[in-house]
Amino acid sequence: MKLYNTKSKRVEEFVPEVPGKVKIYTCGPTVYHYAHIGNLRSYICEDVLIKTLKYAGFDVKRVMNITDVGHLSSDADTGEDKMLKGAKREHKTVLEIADFYTKAFFGDFAKLNIGMPDVVEPATHCIPEFIHMIETLLEKGYAYQAGENVYFDTSKLDNYYVLGGGVSEEDLMVGVRDDVDEDTNKRNKSDFVLWFTKSKFDDQELKWDSPWGYGYPGWHIECSCIAIKHLGETLDIHCGGVDNIFPHHTNEIAQSEAYLGHQWCKYWFHVHHLVDRNGKMSKSKGEFITVDLLKEKGYDPIVYRFFCLQSHYRKPLEFSYEVMDNMTVSFDKLIKRIAQLKDDGAVDNAVFEEYRKRFTEAVTNDVNTSMGITVVYDVLKADTNDSTKKALIGSFDEVLSLDLLKRAEELSAKNSDGSNGDPGVDEETVRFVTEKIEERKAAKKAKDFEKADAIRAELLEKGIAIEDTREGVKWHKI
Ligand code: AMP
Ligand code: ZN
Repeated sequence: MKLYNTKSKRVEEFVPEVPGKVKIYTCGPTVYHYAHIGNLRSYICEDVLIKTLKYAGFDVKRVMNITDVGHLSSDADTGEDKMLKGAKREHKTVLEIADFYTKAFFGDFAKLNIGMPDVVEPATHCIPEFIHMIETLLEKGYAYQAGENVYFDTSKLDNYYVLGGGVSEEDLMVGVRDDVDEDTNKRNKSDFVLWFTKSKFDDQELKWDSPWGYGYPGWHIECSCIAIKHLGETLDIHCGGVDNIFPHHTNEIAQSEAYLGHQWCKYWFHVHHLVDRNGKMSKSKGEFITVDLLKEKGYDPIVYRFFCLQSHYRKPLEFSYEVMDNMTVSFDKLIKRIAQLKDDGAVDNAVFEEYRKRFTEAVTNDVNTSMGITVVYDVLKADTNDSTKKALIGSFDEVLSLDLLKRAEELSAKNSDGSNGDPGVDEETVRFVTEKIEERKAAKKAKDFEKADAIRAELLEKGIAIEDTREGVKWHKI
């Protein structure tokens, strides 16, 4: 597996610390609003990375935080807490909006076929861990108290800007000059807050007791603590969008390595932004596009995933509705071609292995998903039987998660339905019958003929007759 590492600025051979096992951490959402499709581009790319690792035979454990406290309206330490801002906007409590938008976020995961992390931990569940890490940083001399807050002292590190990203003390100075709220407690411009007991917003809703007074954590501490809590003292891969490189990931490295006394994470994986004609999509811009808005406009969320996979994760991707229209046409054509494949015999193992290897080489080459999709089209043109093509496409979809075979089955089922075009056959029925046919197929494969017959009877009871033909299973309403 080859992976670009933001830390070394080059594509490297990926070698996990423990052979065969990968520990991966993803920065989760700040749950004060819906995720926009830009955020979700990052999670789609991370999902493909994880599925690629699994496809290549690695055993993966993935942890994600949920930011429900401490992320201020600027990524620096000024401004209002985003969660509080969201709660005020909606006249709800912080925990109510956190709960609502966390559910909405994972609802979007389901719509986009993004797999769930093994562990999801909200920041507010880990306050004792944060306090412990901050105490240790103070003991070790990496942190100081000033103006009733606790700060990390970046001057104590040899190389604070370890991830680079073109940020320097000078860039920071410019940022600070623009910022009327410069925090005069900081010894160095790049120092960051670990614990607030005093900010200019004294209506913070969620506060906890700490050795430094009643307060709340800074934003960055949560990812270090949650990763170490669930994955131990080292990480193989840390993911996020490119805007996380500085200051968030730079600060995560600073505090984690100061705390641990050794290197924390070897590979840093960053997804470039989704942009539109006006620039980067962001939640604070007011109008932003969500998965549900795409659906309302008649777009299939899986087509958005298909669009994301057509480009490389390290390049900015420009969104427009015109491009979504084109993607819809391409995706429909692809599904139509797959739907024409028949079950026409045994899978040719040699051909299967040849194309599986080509696909694996594409996706394990720094997650080159567009090349992976090209291999899907190559398979459709290949000189082999349809069963082999279907088996290959099903296999690739373990990584792509575009529901290729399922959609093709649904299309065939729709086309083979005796009452095709009859408004009486709605999408839901098609989906239900397709699922039942799949279940029956699996039962027959497992030689559970009793179950297969029961499924046929269940469908009959609902007025659906099925028929096994040379071209596969057909059905119609009776
Ligand atoms: P947030 O909810 O703001 O903490 O962001 C969640 C994730 O989305 C982070 O990893 C960000 O880096 C990422 N992100 C934010 N904006 C974009 C964008 N326009 N395109 C891609 N990823 C983004
Ligand atoms: Zn993070």
